[in-house]
Amino acid sequence: MTKRNTSTRNMSTRRRFVAQAGALVAATFISTSSTRALAAAAKKKLGFALCGLGGLATGQIAPALQKTQNCRLAGVISGNPAEAASWKTQYGIADKSIYSYDTMHRMADNGDIDVVYVLTPNALHLDNALIAAKAGKHVFCEKPMEISVERCQQMIDAVKAAGRMLGVGYRCQYEPNHLECVRIAREQDFGALTIIDAHFSNQTEPPGWRLKRALAGGGPLMDLGIYALQVTRYLTGEEPVWISATTTQGDPVRFSEVEESVLWQAKFPGGAISNCSSSYNAAPVGYFRAVAERGWFSLDPAFNYGGIHGMRSDGKPIELPPIDQFAAEMDDFAQCIVEKKRSKVAGEEGLRDVTIMMAIYESARTGRPVELRLS
Ligand code: NAD
Repeated sequence: MTKRNTSTRNMSTRRRFVAQAGALVAATFISTSSTRALAAAAKKKLGFALCGLGGLATGQIAPALQKTQNCRLAGVISGNPAEAASWKTQYGIADKSIYSYDTMHRMADNGDIDVVYVLTPNALHLDNALIAAKAGKHVFCEKPMEISVERCQQMIDAVKAAGRMLGVGYRCQYEPNHLECVRIAREQDFGALTIIDAHFSNQTEPPGWRLKRALAGGGPLMDLGIYALQVTRYLTGEEPVWISATTTQGDPVRFSEVEESVLWQAKFPGGAISNCSSSYNAAPVGYFRAVAERGWFSLDPAFNYGGIHGMRSDGKPIELPPIDQFAAEMDDFAQCIVEKKRSKVAGEEGLRDVTIMMAIYESARTGRPVELRLS
């Protein structure tokens, strides 16, 4: 590794992920101004309305909201009145704060709801976000942000025009072991990063929207591979400049609309390369290993809701105590709203991932590498 390369990496490191480097500290240390702002907001935890009451909302987000400091479950948006009634009973939600997708625009008159958390299938995120923004609500949107670059940009523009904030549900950006890996990369414990291998797969069976292109936008890349992509971006602190990819479709019936597996390789401006894969027809496995000049570090499992841990080549484990990643991301978003501070998972972060994923699909489709210039 030349000195020049190393210093290029140092410069790019500082460029965009400076906020993340301090995130571990930020998790335990709140500045005086933050304390004042939060104290002022303490009487009113921000009200979150969950839009889409499926697996994630039921299993993770509603329970996580009970653990947050800055948020509360204030409303629901559901297409199923019986489902909404059961949430009303379970969480004591006021009648006025229960909406359908057809009535959610009436939230404009509901001061109890500050944020709409969009938890519907990927291709519906924009429609839900547009209504929420028009009703004057902040928007927190699950990953992937949407299914095209244009739709991501429309969401960013609409929320901005409404004078509200937009965040994307990148829970791993709050997970202490991931943040420790970002620190290892930033401080170059093992020198400059050279190669990152990352993988995330599961078995996804029909029925369900995840195998339907119109609702999912793509297959495992959009759903699972995005975690591997995020890892390569936040470990390097850079955007890829070159991508080469291929997809497979071993079972043409099950995977008639989306890819079965995807493999992509990328080059980063500081010299690191990545090798990533994702599949809907493999055991549930998610890990990464980052190899630097003089050693390596890895997380395995890397993307679970809990139990994330890893290892360093010097024999030291990476095993910081787990947190509720969803509670952390919602608390941070609420804090950003109160402090009028840009979120590290703002809409532009979601847009960058979707831009890169579209380049991955383009490369797989054309059989040619794609060059990228992301700011
Ligand atoms: P799900 O299928 O369990 O729930 C989807 C919800 O959307 C249901 O309430 C369904 O009724 C509603 N919906 C509204 N219109 C629909 C339509 N036309 N077709 C199908 N459903 C419709 O999905 P999920 O697993 O809860 O995922 C929701 C979102 O959350 C997705 O964007 C997904 O990528 C994301 N997600 C993120 C994580 C994470 O760890 N951050 C985990 C799982 C899912």
